[in-house]
Amino acid sequence: KLYNMVQDLKGNIRVFCRVRPIFNNETTKGVIDHIGRDGSLFVMGPSKPQKDARKTFQFNQVFGPTSTQDDVFRETQPLIRSAMDGYNVCIFAYGQTGSGKTYTMSGPQGRPSTELGINYLALRDLFLICDKRREMINYEIHVQMVEIYNEQVRDLLSENSSCTRYPFFMSLENLLEENGLSLPDATMHSVNSTVDVLQLMEAGEMNRAVGSTSMNSRSSRSHSIFMVHVRGKDASGGTIRSCLHLVDLAGSERVDKSEVTGDRLKEAQYINKSLSCLGDVISALSQKSAHIPYRDSKLTLLLQDALGDQAKTLMIAHLSPEEDSFGETISTLKFAQRVS
Ligand code: ADP
Ligand code: MG
Repeated sequence: KLYNMVQDLKGNIRVFCRVRPIFNNETTKGVIDHIGRDGSLFVMGPSKPQKDARKTFQFNQVFGPTSTQDDVFRETQPLIRSAMDGYNVCIFAYGQTGSGKTYTMSGPQGRPSTELGINYLALRDLFLICDKRREMINYEIHVQMVEIYNEQVRDLLSENSSCTRYPFFMSLENLLEENGLSLPDATMHSVNSTVDVLQLMEAGEMNRAVGSTSMNSRSSRSHSIFMVHVRGKDASGGTIRSCLHLVDLAGSERVDKSEVTGDRLKEAQYINKSLSCLGDVISALSQKSAHIPYRDSKLTLLLQDALGDQAKTLMIAHLSPEEDSFGETISTLKFAQRVS
């Protein structure tokens, strides 16, 4: 109870930071220099002094390279649980390609196996709560999984999405007005156990890879959204309706415009636009601004009911610790600071 209060006092927007381990073939000279227990992170640029070379950033939580999936989940759990009490919750994984977004949300390589990520652990937790409250509340849980690629939304769990490259497009504007939290065109799957969830996650990851020459390249240029719909009814007829959105965002790296053309440039422009729009929306929300620019991207339009006043939002900023990524590290940290 007290813990809930503390969470509520912090407001509705939280920002965590996770630094992935350094791999054997990477060089680093202490770019991420110090991680404090209080959520501070000290970065120091590579040898040459430059702007932003030494700076401390403040987060609600920082997870270092040795942190486990369970460590991250433990801090996320209270937020996830509040979906069972009727709050809408959005969790975003932000960062450059290779910084560990998919690892945090799904697990290694996006393959649900060992080291399962937030998506799976969240559902497992929701099922436990269903069980605990069985006497009082009858819950139903449904999931949808979609991706947004080049501002087009695609169902990742439709029966035939593995044979067609883009099985459907929808005009979100009209649909959302009538249906609020869910996307009527995307298949809705009832789930009762973690086994169901694992199967769906695997199917979704497979479909996400369709149409790409290399799985990572395609998945890093689309946003994937795992939508968990919670409905509960108590004995007196009272109802709870809420949604938990778990979002693995497209890679935030800036591409060099002089080097890319055609499709790749278009992709990059769509990604930049939707990520900066997401930043605009979250910072407008945190400043309690009168106008929230939801309509500027498909991502924020799709999430508008889940990103409102009564909703809880968590941004997990992911960092690659190696020296070569220093520029992207700073830009991720700045994005995170802007929304917090
Ligand atoms: P992204 O989705 O941001 O492009 P990935 O999640 O695919 O990045 O991570 C890149 C690689 O680093 C993958 O091989 C992944 O398994 C590994 N990795 C990322 N984060 C961690 C971590 N915290 N611990 C161990 N390995 C990690
Ligand atoms: Mg990924």
